[in-house]
This record gives sequence, C-alpha cells and structure tokens, in this order.
Amino acid sequence: MLALGSHMSTSGGGPPRALERAAELGLESCQLFTKSERQWAAKPLTDEQITAFHRGLTADTRLNRRVVAHDSYLINMASPDDDLRAKSQAALLVELQRCDTLEIPYLVSHPGAHVGSGPEAGIARIIESVNQVLAARPDGTTMLLLETTAGQGTTLGKTFEEIAEMIDGIEDKARVGVCFDTCHTFVAGYDIRTPETYAETMRQFDEIVGLDQIRVFHLNDAKFGLGSNKDRHEHIGEGEIGLEGFRNLMTDPRMTGRMGVLETEKDTTGDLDRKNLATLRSLSA
Ligand SMILES: [Zn+2]
Ligand SMILES: [Zn+2]
Repeated sequence: MLALGSHMSTSGGGPPRALERAAELGLESCQLFTKSERQWAAKPLTDEQITAFHRGLTADTRLNRRVVAHDSYLINMASPDDDLRAKSQAALLVELQRCDTLEIPYLVSHPGAHVGSGPEAGIARIIESVNQVLAARPDGTTMLLLETTAGQGTTLGKTFEEIAEMIDGIEDKARVGVCFDTCHTFVAGYDIRTPETYAETMRQFDEIVGLDQIRVFHLNDAKFGLGSNKDRHEHIGEGEIGLEGFRNLMTDPRMTGRMGVLETEKDTTGDLDRKNLATLRSLSA
C-alpha cells in the first residue's frame, strides 16, 4: 500500500496552508508548489511561513514528513535557447533552496523539452543543467525527482531509456530519483491494465532505470488512450487505465510505503480527493 495523498493548494497563506489542508483530509502524503507554478518570480518565504511549515511537518498527523514539492512549469532545462536555459537553471536553484529551507525531501521536475533540437542534445542539456544546479548547492538535502512524461510535443522523459540516460549523466546520484506518473507513462505507451502488462512494464522499468529510483508516484487516470501522448488526467477508475490498472499498482508489495499523490481535478470541499482516495484504498484491500 502506498502512502496516499494529493496535491494541495497553498492559497491563503502559502506553503503551510497545504499541510493544514492535507491534515484536514487525513492524508499520508502531500504535494505542493512552494511558489507560483506559472511565474518565474518567487516571493521570499517569511519566517512565519517557515516556522508554521516546520510545525506542520512534525505535527501529530498522518503526514509524517511525507511531503514533495513540484517545480514551475516554465522551467525547461533542455531548451536550446541559452537565455531560457540559464533562467531555468536559476529558477530550479531557487526551487531547491526553498525546499531545503522548508525541509521538503523531494522536488519533482519535468525534465524538459528539446524544442526541435533533438532528444540527444536535449538530454545532454538536462544533464549539464542538473549537474550545475546541484554543484551550486553542495550542502543541499532535497532530492530532485525527474518525472516520467507523456511525450507530448518534444518533451523528454517519455521512455524509461531517456530517464535512465539522464540519471546516468548526473554526477551526484544520491540527490536524484524518479517520480512515476501513471497517466504519463500510460499515454507514453506503457500498459499496466492487466497483471501481465503491469508486471512487464515494471520489469522494464526495473531493468532500465531501477524500481528503487521511484520515490513518488503521481496517481492519475488517463483521459486518452495507450500511446496517445496526450497528457490529460482523469479521476481514478474513470479513465483509460481503469480500476484494474490501479489495483495492480496498489497491491504491489514492492511499492509499500512510497508516496502516491493525486493530481486529479479538485473541488473546494475536498470531496473529489476523498472519493479518489477511497477508490484507491478499496483496491488495495
Ligand atoms: Zn505528474
Ligand atoms: Zn500530467
């Protein structure tokens, strides 16, 4: 059984608000943005926010420090545009600094898009960028998690080979891991809908990347089909992956204790999250 949670909003007070909302829902894990995901600029964290966040991490809740941050969607470490890549590196550095300050153990990052310059050149730039950013923070403790992607457009990380190639080039391997998104890998062409296809997909991942590298799962069903490369999330069991696919993951004893966070559509009451989490729990029984 995964430690189940969801991506929580920080609105109305910043990062500590996400932990409060997670506690209200009784979550066992939580993802958040430490800054606006659609802007380059980051408002500095206040001392009050930092203190409140640390209190939230150690409070008597089911969360137990299982928190992960997601970086800005603007960051593209694979960009052939030197200015954009420099901006992306600077932004990633700030994201990691904020995570370190807040004592968040993991930062999920979309590896990037090569924008027509080709996968090899794009992956080389990702490796160079990550190495530079990690070297700029030799004492950093937050681990960077490269997310498996849907393969929309020229995005990299859609095959297990691409993820493995990135990790292979990163010098400080203790500070890098993987976030496995169920929707993305499925629309990228990896089936998990039957026990047999699930076993084969995980066998491939283990052989090419290593199951130990997975620190976080993004639990999303897929609006579009296997191999469609279309990144649209659907509620658990209501998409193309379906209940049996998630049952295969939820009953895999190798994944026990790892974080699994929803990135499905939400409402203000939390009811949609409650429903998706209840569905996932019912599958693991
Ligand atoms: Zn995701
Ligand atoms: Zn997605």
